[in-house]
Amino acid sequence: MLICNGLVVLAEGPIRLNIRTHDEKIVELAENLTSEQGERVVDATGRLVLPGFIDSHVHFREPGDTHKEDFFSGTQAALAGGVTTILDMPNTQPPTDSRDRLAEKAALASTKAVVDYGFYLGATDSNVEEALSVSDQVAALKLYMGSSTGSLLVTEFTPMYRHFSAFPLHKPIVIHAEDEQSLKYFGALGLKDHNQSRPPISAQIALSRALAIAEKTGRALHVAHTTTARELELIQEAKQKGVHVTCEVTPLHLFLTEDDQHRLGNFGKVNPPLRAESDQKALWTYFDTIDTIATDHAPHTREEKNQPYEKAPSGMPGVQTMLPLLLTAASEGKVAPGEIVKRCVVHPARIFGLKTKGALEIGKDADIVLVNPNVEYELTNEQMLSKCGWTPFAGKKVKGKIEQVFIRGSLAYDQGVCLAEPGSGKPVLKQV
Ligand SMILES: [Zn+2]
Repeated sequence: MLICNGLVVLAEGPIRLNIRTHDEKIVELAENLTSEQGERVVDATGRLVLPGFIDSHVHFREPGDTHKEDFFSGTQAALAGGVTTILDMPNTQPPTDSRDRLAEKAALASTKAVVDYGFYLGATDSNVEEALSVSDQVAALKLYMGSSTGSLLVTEFTPMYRHFSAFPLHKPIVIHAEDEQSLKYFGALGLKDHNQSRPPISAQIALSRALAIAEKTGRALHVAHTTTARELELIQEAKQKGVHVTCEVTPLHLFLTEDDQHRLGNFGKVNPPLRAESDQKALWTYFDTIDTIATDHAPHTREEKNQPYEKAPSGMPGVQTMLPLLLTAASEGKVAPGEIVKRCVVHPARIFGLKTKGALEIGKDADIVLVNPNVEYELTNEQMLSKCGWTPFAGKKVKGKIEQVFIRGSLAYDQGVCLAEPGSGKPVLKQV
């Protein structure tokens, strides 16, 4: 296949290039490529040609909570959002905390996924050796320092330190950095404001502890969903000192604040919470310090969200809206397109060891997204392919329409229609 006349967005910036693919791979990239006899030609005139996005933080709820998402619905939403690879979190029911449960999850995804996928293993107080034994088959170890959805939690120093001491140097340990004891303290005050009941100090305490442990053990730490100025100051300082730390931000925290949480009610409830405008601004100020953007796609049904504040679960969907939101920010001059590609493609592939992904480059998988950058439209709940059927961004005007998505050279999404068959998605890491 030859994709010609498009503006190809590389990490270095947009450039006019033609792309030739063959047998799932990119085989040529050059200014002038002419079509060979019988070759399929895709005319991308007026289109942005982006590498398929990697969403390194999704909750597709399988097994256990398939009433709100499963690998088919979740990966369809990903596909429609230009996300061609997802990394699924372990806080399912039961949690993905052993070799057997990893194999069970892999079997479920293999018959349903329409985009490529990988998994996290969840850390517990007692699975240090098991985590080490499956480390080649997972993107990373996920360690919850504070309670969120699901039962995975490591709050004590000893198991946390043992995990950090044992896990391989080349694989990251991803933390949910909220300190459990402080969450209990502020939670017991009965505050109805989510940002006050899980305040920035909880994130600061947990992150400080994790950075100290990562520094001492020399392990690679990746901080999920940073939300505050203080966290980014700490991470920047640790990076300068040579600590092996990387960090993520979500579009939720880049584009929404606590004011939106008050407007959205429980539908805007997420852990860590939407923060003050000053913290949101800091995410943009410290953009250079941020390594990855991932969605923390965490769907819940309307019925679940409509319960009283204390009972309503935390989390919002996002896998389908990340790319349009970021392209809109690019069109407003907030961020350069190449900087988006770095954080949504290049860096996640490098951090999580996804060797066949990560760039529009010869030899990489031909995961390619064609976008018409001039189409403006409104995001609506009805467009969402997630089972939950809503988005916190409903009503928001965005610029840049995803028209076609290719996964490993095959047309998987075309003008609003998902063409990929369930099970066409492939694992990106070695199988269990
Ligand atoms: Zn999450």
